[in-house]
Amino acid sequence: MNVHESEKLYAAFAREGVTAADGMENADIIVFNTCCVREGAETRVLGNLGPVKRLKAERPDIIVAVCGCMTQQADIADKLHKRCPFINIITGTYSLGALPQMVKAVEAGEKFILDLAVDESVPGGVDEAAPSVGVNRFVNIMYGCNNFCTYCIVPYVKGRERSRRAEDIRRETEMLVRGGAKEITLLGQNVNSYRDESGRDFYALLSMLAEIDGKFWIKFMTSHPKDLSENVIRLIGREDKLANYIHLPVQSGSDTILKKMNRGYDSASYLKKIDAVREHIPGAGITSDIIVGFPTETEEDFRATLALVEKVRYNNLFMFIYSKRAGTPAAAMDEQIPEDVKKARIAELIGVQAKIANELAEEHIGLTCEALCDGRGRRATAKTSDDRVIVFDDEGRDLYNEFVTLEITAAENSKLYGRLRK
Ligand code: SAH
Ligand code: SF4
Repeated sequence: MNVHESEKLYAAFAREGVTAADGMENADIIVFNTCCVREGAETRVLGNLGPVKRLKAERPDIIVAVCGCMTQQADIADKLHKRCPFINIITGTYSLGALPQMVKAVEAGEKFILDLAVDESVPGGVDEAAPSVGVNRFVNIMYGCNNFCTYCIVPYVKGRERSRRAEDIRRETEMLVRGGAKEITLLGQNVNSYRDESGRDFYALLSMLAEIDGKFWIKFMTSHPKDLSENVIRLIGREDKLANYIHLPVQSGSDTILKKMNRGYDSASYLKKIDAVREHIPGAGITSDIIVGFPTETEEDFRATLALVEKVRYNNLFMFIYSKRAGTPAAAMDEQIPEDVKKARIAELIGVQAKIANELAEEHIGLTCEALCDGRGRRATAKTSDDRVIVFDDEGRDLYNEFVTLEITAAENSKLYGRLRK
């Protein structure tokens, strides 16, 4: 989501005639689009501001802006302003589109702009195609979140759940497909609770998008396990354009912890959804997020997480050490887990997942599959419908953004290697 917001920010600047610099040293405008989901991301921003301060001392005309969900928090914005008075603009998540205008105001002499205004309106119409980082094109389908998982800061900085009109999303997707996009990823904190003003739900939206002409794949993130319906799972199984891939974050395998996290499901109902995915979407790629070291997590709770991971056998797992986020209920819970315990647990989990990913990769040797090429050269890469990456030699042909057929010939450290079939 953050990547896509940066893409849109880039497009907004491009409309004003601003072009990309080839590095920070040569830039006239430096923008940090921040994320506050975990403390690590915040620390990184502060670390990166050091070199900017030095640059700004040499070239006082550089305009420095910090925006995004970290600075949406008024106390953090205030601290940042005091600590780094050289920053010209601090904005939150709602006013990103206005940044080029703010830059103009600074150019015209304004010293400092702070804009943390909250605006939960949903813009109508179609976002123009923003330049993308890879072949994948993102389409926002909704903003905000209503779930208030107890560890998570997102609902506080992104506001309540609101969906874009299905018709706008269809037009935007069509425009991207006509422009050559072959992979579209729909974005929302909880796509399964999508519902637009005319009452269209996620099933209706996916059905609409699957009718668009052309050869392309639709992926989406994130699916909340409590809201993923069997109808949607069956639809993915039926429609070729809906990729055989689902990111279904479980967060923990312990029912006690899931309850304290306010996730709205237990491990048994989660595993039932996984069974339904496997039944209706043959060969589905399933990935997940896991947090270790949530307050009060016992060794037994953690063992339950390991057991669930062994049972599901995810393609890929995004593993996080619990990070205390001020203002969330979990931050105020007693029994925070010591750092060394969290680190030992994540190391063990990483080991278990690496073994599973290796085994799954080995099982793929000999298979032939279709994949969308997103790299060039002797170590070009392509991604399958089930979201696996295959490294292959493109034999000097430029296949970027083309569908290719690859035979998987080897697996190493959970990576797949393939050979072009045509
Ligand atoms: N809306 C999505 C994900 C949002 S944040 C969902 O519900 O799955 C992405 C991931 O960051 C989460 O799935 C969670 O695993 C992780 N995360 C969120 N808050 C965190 C925290 N305080 N500490 C560690 N990881 C966190
Ligand atoms: Fe955060 Fe939970 Fe909302 Fe995801 S569903 S953004 S984890 S509160």
